[in-house]
Amino acid sequence: MAIYYSSTRNADRHMSASQAILKGLADDGGLFVPSEIPKLDVSLKELAGMSYQQTAYEVMKLFLTDFTEEELKSCIARAYDDKFDTEEIVPLAEAKGAYYLELFHGATIAFKDMALSILPHLLTTAARKNDVKNEIVILTATSGDTGKAALSGFADVEGTKIIVFYPKGGVSPIQELQMVTQRGENTCVVGIRGNFDEAQTGVKRMFNDRAFNELLGEKGFQLSSANSINIGRLVPQIVYYVYAYAKLLGEGVLSECEPVNVVVPTGNFGNILAAFYAKRMGLPIAKLICASNENKVLYDFFETGTYDKNRDFILTSSPSMDILISSNLERLIYYIAGDDADKNAELMKALAAGGAYTITPGMREKLADFAGGYATEAQTAETIRSLYEDTGYIIDTHTAVAASVYNRYRETTGDLTKTIIASTASPFKFTRNVMKAIDARYDGLEDFELADELSKIGNVKVPQAIEEIRHAPVLHDNLCAVEDMPVAVTEFLAIE
Ligand SMILES: *Cc1c(COP(=O)(O)O)cnc(C)c1O
Repeated sequence: MAIYYSSTRNADRHMSASQAILKGLADDGGLFVPSEIPKLDVSLKELAGMSYQQTAYEVMKLFLTDFTEEELKSCIARAYDDKFDTEEIVPLAEAKGAYYLELFHGATIAFKDMALSILPHLLTTAARKNDVKNEIVILTATSGDTGKAALSGFADVEGTKIIVFYPKGGVSPIQELQMVTQRGENTCVVGIRGNFDEAQTGVKRMFNDRAFNELLGEKGFQLSSANSINIGRLVPQIVYYVYAYAKLLGEGVLSECEPVNVVVPTGNFGNILAAFYAKRMGLPIAKLICASNENKVLYDFFETGTYDKNRDFILTSSPSMDILISSNLERLIYYIAGDDADKNAELMKALAAGGAYTITPGMREKLADFAGGYATEAQTAETIRSLYEDTGYIIDTHTAVAASVYNRYRETTGDLTKTIIASTASPFKFTRNVMKAIDARYDGLEDFELADELSKIGNVKVPQAIEEIRHAPVLHDNLCAVEDMPVAVTEFLAIE
């Protein structure tokens, strides 16, 4: 059955999956949602015998219905290959009675790789299907993680170029090193003299500058974004929840139809929304536990029914979750409003105008599947330390937020349902905070010394992503002022 996509703010216009992937965001500022959430059409038992790639096909074919079998399988094969350091792609590790779903075995050792490994292939396939002749130019502003994952995903993908802007001095030394050593003729990394917000505003301005876009069009280029609201990022994220469940079923940890809880360390609400979709597809998920750090705007929302971004922004040790506007939440709002685009548009208007909105009691009732929690910085560090001391297993700061929230959830509710915790980054990506949590004296070491020490005490190999940057040559040393960002783009594209 064909699935179409319409905006969360206007139900009237429909487009195919490939068109929605190409567009990213609807013209009215809304997010694309499928005309229905399809049910899995193979049994979990059958899925239990499948590889990650086969599972990916079974899930994605139901959403991306205008892709042919050959196209989709080719995208999947090119994405989930030996860029991942394990054949399983997403292994599960048990520790203290919870199952950690390790989403960090890709090229940049964080969960963004799960979607950004395949998005470039979905995008170029979508362009071909829709007779787009222009070369696609990805523009991204990054505060650290997304930039490297996008660079790595798009590097050397034919028909694309990627330009990443980051605030010079505003990302961690490891993050900067990861980006400026990026290989690939089609990649460009530019530091800007400004902060992340200015970098992001500069990118948005280029997307909205008609004359600039016309100029690019004349030269055979068109801009696109690798933003986390793209359905080409959301759909691949559903796969690993299905895969994890089937795997546990196959291993006899779960019996047929036994429900599981899922805990997700949340920022933009993309990862947990994918778990919600998996549940709607028929996966036996009981609670969806949304874990926040001290930027607990989502926790407050689940507690009170009011989303209010008017608060101080807190810098935490889990920076990828330091977010006050969780863009993907809009899709959930649309569903709990009863697939009502007008109602959702009204709430989003309130968010844009006053930074807050309140849902109706009827909508709140539909949130019963969700539980919200948050962890303070001290609780996060304590969770890393105690899990390490009790089991030897070392988790990163983002995953620790989830584990901490889960521990309190289990204590206060007595809910002993088996639980999958989304483990979103390798501890080697946030080495300093992880090692400091285990023992304060580690703070005296250099970054790479810390990685070696982590490897020793955790008995895990230093990942390739870290080894690579130890000695890699710096290939990008561009620095520009915020107002010169368009010049950096035209220079890279060799446009006069
Ligand atoms: C992006 C990110 C998150 C948050 O995921 P969302 O889909 O934005 O909720 C959590 N942890 C890590 C390590 C991330 O990179």
